[in-house]
Amino acid sequence: MQVAVIGCGYVGLVAAACLAELGHEVICIDSDSQKIEALNHGESLIHEEYLPELLQRHRGKRLVFSSDLAEAVRQSAVVIIAVGTPSDATGDADLSYVETATQEIANALNGYKVIVEKSTVPVRTNTWIHRAMVLNGCSPSDFDVVSNPEFLREGTAVTDFLYPDRIIVGSRSNRAAKIMRELYTGLVDGSYSKTTTAIPSPDPAVPAALYLDTSPETSELIKHASNAFLAMKISFINAVSVIAEGANADIEDVRVGIGSDKRIGMDFLQAGIGYGGSCFPKDVSAFQAIAKACGTDFQLLSAVRHINEEQLDRFVDKVRKTLWNIKGKNLAVLGLAFKSGTDDIRESPAINVIRRLLQHDCQITAFDPAALERTRDLLGDLITYADDPYSAMANADALLILTDWKEFASLDLARVRSSLRYPIVLDGRNLYEPTPMAEAGLNYYSIGRPPVEVALNSLVRTKTAKIS
Ligand code: NAD
Repeated sequence: MQVAVIGCGYVGLVAAACLAELGHEVICIDSDSQKIEALNHGESLIHEEYLPELLQRHRGKRLVFSSDLAEAVRQSAVVIIAVGTPSDATGDADLSYVETATQEIANALNGYKVIVEKSTVPVRTNTWIHRAMVLNGCSPSDFDVVSNPEFLREGTAVTDFLYPDRIIVGSRSNRAAKIMRELYTGLVDGSYSKTTTAIPSPDPAVPAALYLDTSPETSELIKHASNAFLAMKISFINAVSVIAEGANADIEDVRVGIGSDKRIGMDFLQAGIGYGGSCFPKDVSAFQAIAKACGTDFQLLSAVRHINEEQLDRFVDKVRKTLWNIKGKNLAVLGLAFKSGTDDIRESPAINVIRRLLQHDCQITAFDPAALERTRDLLGDLITYADDPYSAMANADALLILTDWKEFASLDLARVRSSLRYPIVLDGRNLYEPTPMAEAGLNYYSIGRPPVEVALNSLVRTKTAKIS
């Protein structure tokens, strides 16, 4: 099938590479000519497992990159909109990129196409796209607009796309519904996973994706409701973690106790410094805005957002209480990306913690396995960048762990202890058990668990031993 994907961002680029992997002929379009040039020169642009392999496999063959949206539309049977939908100043979704893409599609239309709304959009956007197509001179018989939200997660985007839990398609036309099924055949019948060169499934026991045919409104609502629910789970456990700290309970055991109930589940029940990224913050806001337009206040979502914000302030407060005076302290930060597996720092809790610490004149030295470059573009020389975790913590007053990279969960704790000026670790992602920290002579403060505080005299002994 000939497919055009509009937007070479985290979603568009992964979707385009994966659709080429499924056997389609894909043209991936972006209005940012520098991105297109970089992609055509063999760069991957984003840090995502398996993406370099797929690009190498298909680039210049079944997958081409171009800035010529009109030509891509003319050549394609399916046109996928994967442009950004950020928040506007009021928290509503800014759909101006979707509108521009729609106008450009309308201007290029040369016969029947399925226009796929893959960007995350508020319910009823489908109707607006349809309307914009007609207002821009297209006959309704020459197109259908289908909602097909994307559920991939950054960090596991390729396998999420190729082995999804579900594929949701909202359409009003049998013709479009049939074309959409064809687009995803290899995933729905499980045939893709049997090809010899298939990217391996993270869970081979799951045979194929659930395919749900529904209305566009339902499909749009499923996406927003899914993200809001996941954000709610994170805020729920974070609120419980505050109670756990106050009551001297252990949130990690609470998590296992709650999450082992099959009705609840463990996923997204990890206490920490909160959710971030380019989706949850804006999607929760946009969902609340559309809920209001549909006649309900959905105050639950206000609480979800409030708890998430508070979690950052609580963490910074914990740093302050631990260090007595925070002003001017040298802090080592491990983690800048909003989560592990990605270089995306949009709405990263780590960056938001750093910004708060900078307001207290802290000196920050940071390391991240993938997000250093993007952070340097954002923060410039406001902070110092280290080449590895241990040089970040050299002579620091404390170590802060802010992203859940697995590399940070297996540090040499003796080396951590000898690198730091003060033996203080504040773990915003609960990557460690308290006992090894105590054994390494480190004071350890995490989320929702009793602190580990090494006796002062043992610290003096350690220091004396070091001096002698
Ligand atoms: P992004 O900002 O990384 O990429 C969007 C791309 O679209 C940019 O490269 C931009 O230059 C391009 N673009 C904008 N207008 C264009 C136009 N008229 N023509 C051609 N290109 C245009 O965004 P993203 O993270 O890929 O997200 C895209 C959408 O997918 C959003 O609605 C987002 O909410 C949704 N989504 C994102 C994720 C995720 O994990 N990032 C997951 C699921 C859904």
